[in-house]
Amino acid sequence: MKTVEQHIRDVLDLVEPLEPIELDLLRAHGGVLAEAVSSTVSLPQFDNSSMDGYAVAADDLAGASAQEPVRLPVVADIPAGDVSATAVRRGHCARIMTGAPLPRGADAVVPVEWTDGGLATVAIDRPVQPGNAIRRIGEDVEKGTTVLRPGARLGAGELAVAAAVGRGTVPVHPRPRVVVLSTGAELVEPGSPIGPGQIWESNSYMLTAAALDAGCSAFRRGFVGDDPASVLETIEDVLVQADIVLTTGGVSMGAYDVVKEVLSRLGTVSFDKVAMQPGMPQGAGTVGGSATPILTLPGNPVSSYVSFQLFVLPALRRLRGLPPDPLPAVHARLTAAVPHSPKGRRSYLRAVLEYDGSAGPTPYTAQPATRQGSHQLSALAEANALVVVPEAVTELEEGSVVEVLRLPDAP
Ligand code: AMP
Ligand code: MG
Repeated sequence: MKTVEQHIRDVLDLVEPLEPIELDLLRAHGGVLAEAVSSTVSLPQFDNSSMDGYAVAADDLAGASAQEPVRLPVVADIPAGDVSATAVRRGHCARIMTGAPLPRGADAVVPVEWTDGGLATVAIDRPVQPGNAIRRIGEDVEKGTTVLRPGARLGAGELAVAAAVGRGTVPVHPRPRVVVLSTGAELVEPGSPIGPGQIWESNSYMLTAAALDAGCSAFRRGFVGDDPASVLETIEDVLVQADIVLTTGGVSMGAYDVVKEVLSRLGTVSFDKVAMQPGMPQGAGTVGGSATPILTLPGNPVSSYVSFQLFVLPALRRLRGLPPDPLPAVHARLTAAVPHSPKGRRSYLRAVLEYDGSAGPTPYTAQPATRQGSHQLSALAEANALVVVPEAVTELEEGSVVEVLRLPDAP
């Protein structure tokens, strides 16, 4: 049997960061920046007011007080974007709004709150420091500096910075297109009536959602039966729209393990047993003329889910241009014993991880779900973590300190 680490390496060998493309800012949202963005200008580009008030020469207000306010004629009105008022002479002032360019001759802005708000003449009741309420050219970004580094994930803040330095487009690794296809003659679309021996299909919903949560464009192709011709045809059909294909089902040792059967004849997919539980049967390789990566996950819903978290997620990260990090791990104290874990296979147990802040070996606890069968998906909804039971360990006492992988949060 293959180790989990070996399978992760084999999966990662199949993928590389997607070719960067230049995208409009909102299309780039969620993408990963492929090249540095540097600013061709200083920000602010000109000295401007940080408040609504009056642009003055600070010296003119030296003697101002509440008892004896200084009165100045207001010679101009400067809204943001207005460059017509170029200068104020000594003994005069201009009404100025936030973001408006500071006129020559002024070296301070007096907030409107310090004044009577006058339009022709304004009374100002206190002195002002030179530089008050002025945003200086270049105090945010100096011309030529890098404002976003390659590898940056383009969220709200990053897009704001790109836009503020005037970029309409940015070079990004696009969101990977993930196509999800399930197999199984017993599967029925949820929402439709079900017959004897059938089950409602859930894997493709789970994996499509997980791929979306992982920053990909995911397409649920749905499911096909266990007939080799239609499985083959559907896989070939989705290749044009896929940067990676995920299938579920049909990869174990049964008679109708159609994915294994079809892909053994086509492409480079190899099928292995990985020393883990759940999720032992795994396939990985490429198919089609463009050697599209394909990962064939087991059909049991929990196996499929765990396989996504361990193997698919790092591959998606690499396609996105991110480091292929595994799930983040913490140590936690078990709040219940684990009576059995198979020797020679690493178990991943669905669990609820909680921070209780206690002193001692770790401030976290992990409560393993009581239903751990690979078909028992009820515990998936509340689980936020996977407890790792190493290959050599066959049982664990309550209170044992274990490694726990945090599952990604729903958005
Ligand atoms: P298989 O790997 O195809 O042998 O399937 C293993 C188990 O997982 C069987 O009990 C299937 O009915 C179940 N299963 C397979 N595919 C799905 C699916 N897409 N949704 C829900 N259960 C599935
Ligand atoms: Mg099946």
